[in-house]
Amino acid sequence: MNNNKGLSFSTRAIHSGYDASANEGALNPPVYMTSTFCFDSVEQGAARFAGSESGHFYSRISNPTQSLLETRLADLEDAEAGLATASGMGAITAALWTLVAPGDKVIADKTLYGCTFAYLKHGLRKFGVIVEFVDCTDIEAVAAALSENTKVVYFESPVNPNMRVMDIKAISQLVHDYDPAIKVMVDNTYCTPALQRPLNLGADLVVHSATKYLGGHGDLIAGAVLGNQATIDQIRVYGLKDMTGAVIAPLTAFLILRGLKTLELRMERHCNSAQELATRLQQHNTVESVYYPGLADNPYHELAKAQMKRNGGMIAMELKGGFTSGVQFMNQLKMIKRAVSLGDAETLCQHPASMTHATYAPEERAAHGISEGLVRISVGLEDIEDIYADIEQALQYV
Ligand SMILES: *Cc1c(COP(=O)(O)O)cnc(C)c1O
Repeated sequence: MNNNKGLSFSTRAIHSGYDASANEGALNPPVYMTSTFCFDSVEQGAARFAGSESGHFYSRISNPTQSLLETRLADLEDAEAGLATASGMGAITAALWTLVAPGDKVIADKTLYGCTFAYLKHGLRKFGVIVEFVDCTDIEAVAAALSENTKVVYFESPVNPNMRVMDIKAISQLVHDYDPAIKVMVDNTYCTPALQRPLNLGADLVVHSATKYLGGHGDLIAGAVLGNQATIDQIRVYGLKDMTGAVIAPLTAFLILRGLKTLELRMERHCNSAQELATRLQQHNTVESVYYPGLADNPYHELAKAQMKRNGGMIAMELKGGFTSGVQFMNQLKMIKRAVSLGDAETLCQHPASMTHATYAPEERAAHGISEGLVRISVGLEDIEDIYADIEQALQYV
């Protein structure tokens, strides 16, 4: 059931796919805590397994609470279909295991979420898949890497952690002109569909860590893949059911549905505060550089304007004293939490070189544009003056 087309984003984030009158009038959807589903007859069971009759049969494949979340996320990303998973890595691996075989090639941007990088480099390669890391901000480099055996082009935008921005439209066009069968896959975790919809820019698949802004409250781990029906069906049957088993728990799906109701509202606040914080940090005498596409002198400012509604809630900064300053700054924070992850109500600060991107060797970090002194801030929902006051006092120690 989806009669919400034509309604605006925040309205769909609250209502899409749910019919209270079909659920005892319950304002919020029931959480189907069940592993299996009963058949009226052997024939019905057989029809469900064969796919000739729709309906659930086992919660590793689908569950009504999961289905509602998938419908809603697909609606918000302007996708035909969606698949919710146990984690962002569950979504990324379920999709890629489904799309590639030994001898196939994946082209990926050189800077990725640490575990995505580790999976591509150590996981997929171990099974005979060719993975080529290129700078996807350089369209010529993507063109040069395309080959007959290429199956997937994979990137994030903006990139975790150093905020490079990829031209989703230009890359998608280039790749599909070369071979329409190649899947352009975009990790949209940083933006969420409230700020950026890669499928409308020509991409084929979107993946999310729903752990971050979609859930929004730092109380769960989950992921999602969005795309066309045929591809999502395949990923569900191979990637989820057989290869990873990375199924989302019904209660987790419910919590994300709850988080989505405030997604647009939260993103607005995250964006406002990040813009203000980036502007102030740029003027601070201890700060060497601030990476935030909302700053007018950022090299990706115009591109971000063209493909993102706002610039997001993530900032990276380089302190003048490099690594030591970064560590000193982080250890002086009082209200702001030292933690990985992002997209929560709480402002979180982390040091990629020692934390999320420790999966890269130091020389790889250098080659991939993650400097040793880079500090990443996930700007939370606290009052911006309190956020800035804590950062300002900690900067006195660097
Ligand atoms: C966190 C994150 C992931 C991995 O998601 P999990 O839910 O932690 O498995 C993937 N991509 C990006 C950009 C992330 O921030």
